[in-house]
Amino acid sequence: MKSVTEEFGSLVFDDRVMRATLSAEVYNSLKKTIDEGASLDISVANAVASAMKDWAVEKGATHFTHWFQPLTGITAEKHDSFITPAPDGRVIMEFSGKELIKGEPDASSFPSGGIRATFEARGYTAWDPTSYAFIKGKTLCIPTAFCSYGGEALDKKTPLLRSMEALNRQALRILKLFGNTDVKCVRTSVGPEQEYFLVDREMFEKRRDLVFTGRTLFGAKPPKGQEMEDHYFGVIKPRVAAYMEELNEELWKLGVLAKTEHNEVAPAQHELAPIYTTTNIATDHNQLTMEIMQKVALKHGLVCLLHEKPFAGVNGSGKHNNWSISTNTGVNLLSPGETPYENAQFLLFLCAVIKAVDDYQDLLRLAVATAGNDHRLGANEAPPAVVSIFLGDELTAILEAIESGKPYAGRKKTALKLGVDVLPVFPRDTTDRNRTSPFAFTGNKFEFRMLGSSNSIACANIMLNSAVAESLRIYADRLEGAEDFEKALNDMIRKTIKDHKRILFNGNGYDDAWIKEATEVRGLLNYRTTPDCMPHLLDKKNVEMLTLHKVYSETELKARTEIMLDNYCKTVVIEANTMADMARRDILPAVESYIRDLSETASAKVRFAPDSPCGFERKTVSGLSLLAEQILACTEALEEAVVKLKFAPDAEQESCMIRDNVLPKMSALRAAADEAETLTAGKYWPFPTYGDLLFGVK
Ligand code: ADP
Ligand code: MG
Repeated sequence: MKSVTEEFGSLVFDDRVMRATLSAEVYNSLKKTIDEGASLDISVANAVASAMKDWAVEKGATHFTHWFQPLTGITAEKHDSFITPAPDGRVIMEFSGKELIKGEPDASSFPSGGIRATFEARGYTAWDPTSYAFIKGKTLCIPTAFCSYGGEALDKKTPLLRSMEALNRQALRILKLFGNTDVKCVRTSVGPEQEYFLVDREMFEKRRDLVFTGRTLFGAKPPKGQEMEDHYFGVIKPRVAAYMEELNEELWKLGVLAKTEHNEVAPAQHELAPIYTTTNIATDHNQLTMEIMQKVALKHGLVCLLHEKPFAGVNGSGKHNNWSISTNTGVNLLSPGETPYENAQFLLFLCAVIKAVDDYQDLLRLAVATAGNDHRLGANEAPPAVVSIFLGDELTAILEAIESGKPYAGRKKTALKLGVDVLPVFPRDTTDRNRTSPFAFTGNKFEFRMLGSSNSIACANIMLNSAVAESLRIYADRLEGAEDFEKALNDMIRKTIKDHKRILFNGNGYDDAWIKEATEVRGLLNYRTTPDCMPHLLDKKNVEMLTLHKVYSETELKARTEIMLDNYCKTVVIEANTMADMARRDILPAVESYIRDLSETASAKVRFAPDSPCGFERKTVSGLSLLAEQILACTEALEEAVVKLKFAPDAEQESCMIRDNVLPKMSALRAAADEAETLTAGKYWPFPTYGDLLFGVK
């Protein structure tokens, strides 16, 4: 067997392979494109394509695909084979630079939010040379961006790359002011921790709610849930361990730096964390990870659930987006430095993030908004829908000292030329942990914890990068024109702290008192649901900022709002229809057959033992009969609410109708059915219960 180090990246056309298979000239030219964004000559593209093809064919590939991330949130691929007919009837394997650089999938079925007229159905995909090509199955996958013929982005990668570029541009301006002229480029890095559930495949297939919607729409609370907290970091069960082992191997071959794995809080819940990497690569890798997780699970007779809330009353799954900014010279700009000057620079970047998160709370909130994540945020298991920042006591005290102009009374100090003697030699990695904050500073990075487990991390990082680019732009504009740099810097840091300290909160984010304070005293936003927040993508300030930095055009923003709302509506309507279907075809018949058997038993008892009171039969039949009526009434009400959606004039109104009329009716139906489950004998219940699903994998 090959060792991990031999196996790692064996299916990736990475730097090692490039160096080995390309001429020095081609390699250097490609490297320039990758590192500095220089444009690529077609002769270079041809040489790269040819080397890529030879490498892939040797590894057994027969096809290639432009792998992209349309707005559905998953990845898409259309396979073309390498074969080209030769004049003598044979085929040869060919792949040109043109095919590498640009593809033209018929994209009429991908959501475009009205950007792409139907007569112009084609979109095109363009190679992202900064993310390595890889082999999946027998296909060479080329990471690409996906655009319309008019150049509008139809995917998540394009705006992500644009947001990284925006942040790069503005950060370089700031670094120059601090004398860092050797820095060529600034990039953000991300390490996304991914949570998921594993359930038995046979049980999964018996539940249409799981099959159609990825979550359970019915299910009474099991006698045992997560209250013992005996699963968190617990011993990994053999079937799960075998799964994790194969998952790691597959991910490693694809160059994904899968590093940590453990059981999570809920039974059957687990987590995988990779080592962080450049944001667009981390995004590609996270998409791949989610895909491979699901594939490998099937091979082990399991199903991997990536839904944010597969089980009511049990913790849902999220994704923690660990994010930092660093230079090509290896400096993490969110890490406190050694010298006063480095620390002033650190402080400025820290302030830029604080300002960004406060000014664009709405964008961060809506970047993670989906029907699934609405069940999680604010449900006492995940951060609330209110965005705030945790800095830890020490850093908070430092900022308070700066704001008030008093010296910082903390530990070891170094003189910081900011008018006051404030910043200590910052203790690395001793920041206190706070697991309830949506946006926590953890020593040298921020951890954004509001993402749902099935979200693409692209959206959150697009907004984060853009908002921080905007803070830096404002700072750079002021500092570049300043007569006294240090005074201007000092004033600006102070002003940021004063203006934005309302976003800083070190307490318990799950506490109701915090939500009250946040919204009533501090004036922070609390958008509970997707319909509440999504339309704010088109608020004037947001459109201005995102277009100024060329991350989105206004047309793209309108399209995205439309698509996200539409996606929300479709998701919930499928759930509502699935519920009605299960109620009518599974649950009611099961309840009725139990009622019939109990009634027959009771009549038999009366016949043979006239004195028998038949208490159990009477009580159960009467309870279940009432519940059956209720289930029917709730089903009819739900069906009616869904029919009414037809009259919604647009997706925004429809989403509000869903929030106000459909979701409450789904809850009512569920409550009646779950109660019926608790009264019905186990063998009559038509699908596996919560207990079966949560504790079924050994
Ligand atoms: P936790 O205590 O939250 O479980 P870990 O220490 O396990 O966190 O790290 C979580 C993630 O943070 C990992 O994916 C790790 O690679 C990532 N990470 C560490 N440093 C950075 C950084 N500078 N930038 C981005 N991500 C980072
Ligand atoms: Mg974490």
